[in-house]
Amino acid sequence: MNLDQSKIPQATAKRLPLYYRFLQNLHASGKQRVSSAELSDAVKVDSATIRRDFSYFGALGKKGYGYNVSYLLSFFRKTLDQDEVTKVILIGVGNLGTAFLHYNFSKNNNTQITIAFDVDESKIGTEVGGVPVYHLDTLEENMPGDTPVAILTVPAPAAQSITDRLIKKGIKGILNFTPARLNVPDSIRIHHIDLAVELQSLVYFLKHYQGES
Ligand code: ATP
Repeated sequence: MNLDQSKIPQATAKRLPLYYRFLQNLHASGKQRVSSAELSDAVKVDSATIRRDFSYFGALGKKGYGYNVSYLLSFFRKTLDQDEVTKVILIGVGNLGTAFLHYNFSKNNNTQITIAFDVDESKIGTEVGGVPVYHLDTLEENMPGDTPVAILTVPAPAAQSITDRLIKKGIKGILNFTPARLNVPDSIRIHHIDLAVELQSLVYFLKHYQGES
C-alpha cells in the first residue's frame, strides 16, 4: 500500500512508536494476532481510537480475529523508517547527556547518537557509551551533514547560540532538555522536555487533583 504520511493525523502519528514497541514484544513472544481490546489494555489507548488509528494504515481488523501481528509490524517498521537509522547528535555531555549516551536509545533501533560535543577539555577526545566527544568549536567541521536530529543537554544560556549553529548545519529537529525557550524558523521542529517542570507539575497534580481524572 502506498501511504501518504502527511494524511496521518499528528495525534495518530505520535502513538505509532507506542504501538510498534508493544507489537514487537507480542511478536517476540510468538503471538500471531491481537485484538483491539488487548492492544487497548496494553497501551492504555481506548479501542475506538486504536481502530480509527489503524484504519489510516489500511489495517482493518476482522471481527473475532483481530489484527495480524506480523503484518502490522512490517507496516510500522516501514512507516517509522525502522530499516533506516536516523543519526542524532548530542550537545552537552554532563550528567543528563552522559546518561543518554550510555542509553543511546538502543531499544528503539532506528535512532542512534553518533557524535557528541562539549566545551569541557577533560571530556574532549573521550568516548562516552561508545560515542566520541568533540569540542563544540569544531561543530561545523565534524557534525555529519546527514544528521537531522540534535539533543540539547547544555546549560540554558548556551542553548540559543548552539541552536542557531545547528540550524545552519541543516538540523531539522531538536529535543531540547534545557529550560531555554528556543527561537527557530517554522521549518524547524522543537520538542521541549523540561524535566524539572514535568516533575513539579506531577507533584502539583498529585497534591491538588488526587482522585480526579
Ligand atoms: P556536569 O556534572 O558534567 O557538570 P551537569 O549536567 O550537571 O553535568 P551542566 O552545567 O548542565 O552540568 O552542563 C552540561 C554539560 O554541558 C557539561 O558537560 C558542560 O561541560 C557542557 N557545556 C557547558 N557549556 C557549554 C557550551 N557552551 N557548549 C557545549 N557544552 C557546554
